[in-house]
Amino acid sequence: MSFLLPCPNCGPRDVNEFAYAGEVTQRPGGPPSQRELSAYVYFRRNVAGVQREWWYHRFGCELWFLADRDTRTNEVLHTESPQVSAETPAAT
Ligand SMILES: [Zn+2]
Repeated sequence: MSFLLPCPNCGPRDVNEFAYAGEVTQRPGGPPSQRELSAYVYFRRNVAGVQREWWYHRFGCELWFLADRDTRTNEVLHTESPQVSAETPAAT
């Protein structure tokens, strides 16, 4: 499977140049309970549709960036560089 993914620095490139780093998750606010921590570390929404994801341009400019991708069609609707301190990559 292959599709084009537009890097915010480099433009559209073959997806095999990139590493997928999972969907964007939200850290618990404050000290988490055991349930909140488990949900943050292990649970993903895994939607059939558009989801916000982390990607890394490993064979290019090495930028971490965000993409809105439709998981049903691999259509990439939008990519952007992250805002500082807004979100962090998901634990894998
Ligand atoms: Zn790039």
